[in-house]
Amino acid sequence: MFRVPFVNYKIQYQELKPELDKKIQDVFDRGDLILRQDVEEFEKNLADFLGVEYAIGLNSGTDALIFSLKAAGIKEGDEVITVSHTFFATIEAIIHNGAKPVLAEAGEDYLMDMDKAEALITKRTKAILPVHLNGRVCDMEKLLALAQKHNLVVIEDAAQALGAKFKGKKAGSFGLAGCFSFYPAKILGALGDAGAVATDNEEMAKKVRLFRNHGQMKNSEGRVEIISYGWTSRLDNLQAAILNVKFSRLQKWIEKRREIAELYYQGLVRVPEIKLPPKSDEDHFDIYQNFVIRAQKRDALSEFLKEKSVETLIKDPVALHQQPILKNFGFKLPFSEELAKAVISLPLYPQLAREQIEYVINCVKEFYTK
Ligand SMILES: *Cc1c(COP(=O)(O)O)cnc(C)c1O
Repeated sequence: MFRVPFVNYKIQYQELKPELDKKIQDVFDRGDLILRQDVEEFEKNLADFLGVEYAIGLNSGTDALIFSLKAAGIKEGDEVITVSHTFFATIEAIIHNGAKPVLAEAGEDYLMDMDKAEALITKRTKAILPVHLNGRVCDMEKLLALAQKHNLVVIEDAAQALGAKFKGKKAGSFGLAGCFSFYPAKILGALGDAGAVATDNEEMAKKVRLFRNHGQMKNSEGRVEIISYGWTSRLDNLQAAILNVKFSRLQKWIEKRREIAELYYQGLVRVPEIKLPPKSDEDHFDIYQNFVIRAQKRDALSEFLKEKSVETLIKDPVALHQQPILKNFGFKLPFSEELAKAVISLPLYPQLAREQIEYVINCVKEFYTK
């Protein structure tokens, strides 16, 4: 066990154990396993939190991306612009719809560079898929303007940004659909896999509901009709119940994450070998899903921290477009490649003790002064 583990599912469970155990028992006693009241309650919680009309619970954030692109009509021959500097699911979702991912360069804030993205638009471009990476929202003013100018569908990958805001508006509420993940390590984590689509568009909501449950819908007489081909991708009712318990803590956890980020900023600001992530400002309310720094001698730093019993994460040692499976597309994104070589995530979750955070800061400093 690390002195500072990168994630700590056990402590997160222990913190809410009495409430969670009671809720889980209650769900089993009711026998409510598939698409029951807890899913509906969760969907309402999420829609209210985001300020959107509809939220549809799914089994993962990946399916949220796949389904919303499909519901938006993305198909073979279409191009969808997104970034290389993301989690692979963003790109997979485009591929699974038969479309071509067109990967844009990231900027200093690790997010899509909107000018470089606009330069990639062709006659085939149908959609643009911004990723609000690390809990910071892309410049949605610029993005929406260019989407409107070029008549593009906007699907947001908000898997890392539940509660993050741009100019006061929440991630996942700007586009035709916002995609969320409740994977355990996410800011609101289930005790297993879970995801959701958020939208104001009735047609989008209806299609995603069909896709998650074999295209089935009850008609006006209450009989089940099959409207489309679909999948098994429902949000598990038990996970929904667990997420409902956790939802009541979300606001507090967001504040806690922002406080911890502030401690990292203060502690590391004078380390010249490190570039800190962009800070929350007038336009950005960041929720710090991850605290990602750019570090000189990154791999050695990671090793040193491991020896010091601090667990860190280097997600992609090479940029995604350099992976063999994507190499054929021939993307050249020097800054994304540079990022892949330099970024490392420090532990950040609400249950971290102050002493642990200070320990991480001191270890990082020690590495560069030893
Ligand atoms: C976690 C994540 C996903 C996928 O979510 P799953 O629930 O794991 O399928 C997609 N995009 C980003 C940016 C993510 O971080």
